[in-house]
Amino acid sequence: MTDLHRLSIRELSEGLKQAQFSSRELTEHYLKRIAHIDPKVKSYVTVTAEQALAEADAADAVLKSGNAHALAGIPLAHKDIFCTQGIKTTAGSKMLDNFISPYDATVVAKAKAVGLVTLGKVNMDEFAMGSTSENSYFGATSNPWALDRVPGGSSGGSAAAVAADLAPIATGTDTGGSIRQPASFCGLTGLKPTYGRVSRFGMIAYASSLDQGGPMARSAADCAYLMNVIAGHDSKDSTSVNKDVDDYVAKLNGTAVKGLRIGIPKQYFNVAGLDADVKARVEESLKKLEEMGATLVEIDLNMTEAYVPTYYLIAPAEASSNLSRYDGVRYGYRCDNPKDILDLYKRSRSEGFGAEVQRRILIGTYALSAGYYDAYYVKAQKVRRLIQQDFLKAFENVDVIAAPSAPTTAYKIGANLSPTEMYLGDIYTLAVNLAGLPAINAPVGFDKDSLPVGLQLIGNYWSESQLLSIVHQYQQNTDWHTKRAAIAEENA
Ligand code: GLN
Repeated sequence: MTDLHRLSIRELSEGLKQAQFSSRELTEHYLKRIAHIDPKVKSYVTVTAEQALAEADAADAVLKSGNAHALAGIPLAHKDIFCTQGIKTTAGSKMLDNFISPYDATVVAKAKAVGLVTLGKVNMDEFAMGSTSENSYFGATSNPWALDRVPGGSSGGSAAAVAADLAPIATGTDTGGSIRQPASFCGLTGLKPTYGRVSRFGMIAYASSLDQGGPMARSAADCAYLMNVIAGHDSKDSTSVNKDVDDYVAKLNGTAVKGLRIGIPKQYFNVAGLDADVKARVEESLKKLEEMGATLVEIDLNMTEAYVPTYYLIAPAEASSNLSRYDGVRYGYRCDNPKDILDLYKRSRSEGFGAEVQRRILIGTYALSAGYYDAYYVKAQKVRRLIQQDFLKAFENVDVIAAPSAPTTAYKIGANLSPTEMYLGDIYTLAVNLAGLPAINAPVGFDKDSLPVGLQLIGNYWSESQLLSIVHQYQQNTDWHTKRAAIAEENA
């Protein structure tokens, strides 16, 4: 079988259950593709071939018994921010280059428990800070649609791996857009769940009040399968919410689009820097949804200008606190021959962290310091509440809100944007995290350079099922999600 990598998760699941192929064959197929194609894409930081084959054999045994979970034997890649027992977890940082976690993140443990096979760990911006994956200590990952372009970030390795068919599904995390923006840049479907839906236990912390894990895949249906595994309460994460989880797969075929009221924020489509092709493709997708029975309603989201400054105070403030644990004493990078304890702290942190991480630690420490705390941090928290209220008001009148996921398509590797230019590219994704809402990216076409464009749909709290179902119906009526980059068409 040469095109196992073209099958959807449902097809893989059925093929495995009917013994058309084994998990070992499927896993070997992906490992071979990774060996041949990933040197060009550079999505994996660590490939766990030996363990993957052992997991595949174990899954095959369960499949034979007839009692296997729908995902048993299907391979996946984990963003290198999820701790994996016995396997390096780097978070894209020199600081954790040799870090081996003594335990699995809950997301990883849940994936293992149903028999998903871990192919390896994929690249990301250092500590999830960035929008291109270029901030990784391990070097840049390429966008499968154009190898001289970035895949987006911070979950760029996850997006590139799936878009090049080097994994059928992947986990990602989203603190300010890191699932949706790389999904947009790589032509994938990616879901950022409601804050508290997916456990953060064992997920290396960037900004704890914003961080949330979620699925990245080719289609909403594939995302639904992975959500069924990773969603749910976890007593090891005090911010994980104890609330019933939907069967996301069973609920896909509702009538989500007919009668749906989609809010179109006036402010979002007048943002300076919104690319004309992105705008056109997003508007065409909305037209399609309208044809399918949705109603478009113009709405106001007045706080739009506050999104970037508010996020870039709160996220660095939390990061400065979270990253204080990397001090060269307990684990992680330690400088050579420290003179004294202060020298050990200083040099371990200056040598172990990259430039963007250091910038954010400095901004965050400043915003939290005595004398500036009220003016910056407390103020940002108040604005955060106003942003949330803005959304809640909008949801009194509409079911979901539409936006681009990013103002542009993927830019060139090494474009070297200034930090402010880079941060402004996050305009459409940050508010969702500040408010704790769920949102999904769906591919809706291409720009003049044949690069994918993404539509973002933002839902009310706990509306993951609805978002997946809307995109699923859109995908049954369109074929953007079936388009593959040339490199994905290559056979290994
Ligand atoms: N690009 C944003 C940042 O740099 C978001 C990153 C993320 O969601 N992890 O912080």
